[in-house]
Amino acid sequence: MLKAYVFRLYPDNNQKQRINQTIENSRFIYNYFLNNKIKEYKETKKSKTAYDQIKLIPSLTIEYPWLKECDSCALRNSLFNLEDAYKRFYNGNGYPKFKNKDKYNSYKTNNNISTYKGKEYNSIKLDLENKLITLPKLKEVKIRGYRNKNKIIGIIKSATIKKEANKYYVSVLIEEELIKPIFIPNNIIGLDLGIKDLVITSNHEKIENKVKNYNKRLKGLQKALARAKVGSKNRYKLKLKIQRLYQKIRNARKHLIHNITNKLIKENDIIITENLDVKNMYQNHHIAKSLTNTPLGELIRILKYKCNWQNKKLIQINRYYPSSQICSRCGYKNEKVKDLSLRKWECPECHTAHDRDYNASENILFEGIKLYMEELQA
Ligand SMILES: [Zn+2]
Repeated sequence: MLKAYVFRLYPDNNQKQRINQTIENSRFIYNYFLNNKIKEYKETKKSKTAYDQIKLIPSLTIEYPWLKECDSCALRNSLFNLEDAYKRFYNGNGYPKFKNKDKYNSYKTNNNISTYKGKEYNSIKLDLENKLITLPKLKEVKIRGYRNKNKIIGIIKSATIKKEANKYYVSVLIEEELIKPIFIPNNIIGLDLGIKDLVITSNHEKIENKVKNYNKRLKGLQKALARAKVGSKNRYKLKLKIQRLYQKIRNARKHLIHNITNKLIKENDIIITENLDVKNMYQNHHIAKSLTNTPLGELIRILKYKCNWQNKKLIQINRYYPSSQICSRCGYKNEKVKDLSLRKWECPECHTAHDRDYNASENILFEGIKLYMEELQA
């Protein structure tokens, strides 16, 4: 993962002069080769690549000896900038422009890493403890920033030195290794997802789909709209009211889903659900009427990305797993429970009394744990 750290730079007078010179030289190279490219294209319909242009820099120093007085890496990067400007042009943006002093106020230099007698040398070094940065051709420059850090662990890729309103800054690009904390699943929960109760947990909690019902109000407004004269002020007002009501319903649903998912993620490390075919569920369920208010797909989507962000695990079990029919105590499969109206049942085998939804969420929990253990072994 690449991350940029920006520091205020405090160069002494010599260093200032050198930075200014390097920015000027980079700008000169940019404009010089832009001019070259334009001419070349007119004459030959061809144009050089940045790599070909870089080879021409040494011979240019005969005519322009002050080009030697700077970090040559900056000049190279200037040509890559020009090449990028052309790429943008080919992608439909404007033709590259000559840069005046206001438009060209920075230069970029890369960190060259070399090894000599088993020791590693970097052309850019960052010393946060002593607040110093080492840059090619400048040596150590004082910096300020990131007071609470005394070390950044990672590989320095490049530094961009910028002059703005007579102040100097350096942006250091560092490749940091993404370290994931060790995953310790202390709390595991199984969720049965439903219509009236959105979520039924293996901890025997039911979370209702508690969004206020605006159906009556919506119907009233729609009726009034149908009666209103086309083009009338009243009709316009009614349309606006309906739009606002839809917005209100959407917001209430969003709010509910965020509340539920936040709570689940805060309290649990592994969350197990069924891999539902939500569309199918909406079509087939016998209480289809209330389904349009059921944001289950959205709930799973948000659960997924929040788990990802917060180093939690979401396990989705096979949608054909008969979580409702199996007795969570003894494993007996009771086909009678296929009947959706059967809310409570007793296991014919072990005589445990079951609440349909709690039993399902417990089975989902066990199936998920089984999958997780298999994953650990793989
Ligand atoms: Zn049983």
